Amino acid sequence: MIKPFIKKLISVVRAGKIASASLPVFMLHGVIPKPGPLYQRGFHNITPNELHQNIAFLRRNFDIISLDDSLSLAAEDADLSGKCIITIDDGYACLKEYVFPVFAAENIPATVFIISSLSGDGMDFWRDQLRAIILQNRTSHFIEFCQNRYKGKIRLQDDGMDLMKATKSPETGNSHNLQAALNEYFKENDLTMSMDDQTGCDTTFLTAEDIRNAPPCISFGNHTHTHPFLPGLTEGDQFEEIMACKLFLDEVGKSSPYLCLPFGAYDQATLNAAKRAGYKNIIHYGDNVSNSTTGIMEGNIHRLKMHPRVEETAMMILRNVS
Ligand SMILES: [Zn+2]
Repeated sequence: MIKPFIKKLISVVRAGKIASASLPVFMLHGVIPKPGPLYQRGFHNITPNELHQNIAFLRRNFDIISLDDSLSLAAEDADLSGKCIITIDDGYACLKEYVFPVFAAENIPATVFIISSLSGDGMDFWRDQLRAIILQNRTSHFIEFCQNRYKGKIRLQDDGMDLMKATKSPETGNSHNLQAALNEYFKENDLTMSMDDQTGCDTTFLTAEDIRNAPPCISFGNHTHTHPFLPGLTEGDQFEEIMACKLFLDEVGKSSPYLCLPFGAYDQATLNAAKRAGYKNIIHYGDNVSNSTTGIMEGNIHRLKMHPRVEETAMMILRNVS
């Protein structure tokens, strides 16, 4: 039985009452049969079955359009009500098996934002390394390592803080130092990310080949080279992060005008660097970026996490625009 609030939501969506200035952008990360503890379950990593249900719900209630279409429509001042966009961050390898075939079968457009050091060089993702440290109860040990080895450069206190949260903050210091510390720590402690058996999840990423062979309805975009917390870096380093991924996508034959900011975080230097790299379209969450110095306009976008039950996410759209 459909819950009354969902029924109401569906009728509101059908009636086209979502404000025309609002274009919901659903954000997804991984799709995994048995999401393990490395992933934030209930956040935006969902199972293949939940993906099927979510896509069916979105198709029933929205016209799913591409980022390109959204720009064309916005340029014509067209009514965007009843439309939505799907974006997928980070480019985990599981997309190839569980997401691309679903989207290809129905020709549903989606944009995947790639981290070029992971797809190009096969590096470990520092966010997954942190999850592994937490999972193995090594948080205190790792913080002590940082305090000894990266004194003054990485500022982490062993006070029961949330390691995932603390490391996407300007307080912690430069993300590149943290990435170097993680790689050293993994090497010295003989840790690897091939822990799929323990965690029931995927810590590998789409390769250049996978990206090249993706179905035509899937487009790609820039999610920087290493997914740092950009505001913690100099403008020069931010520019290099953006450019390295841009060049990677150009080389793979999937050039893209879209830049998606890691963690949605930016400062003035980010906007300057993005402009220098040739980007006008920035995807993030939170308030719009409208900057008179750089001329970058993000558009009126609500970026929303695709929960296992997308109906609950869709409810947020109504709250946001009402
Ligand atoms: Zn990301």
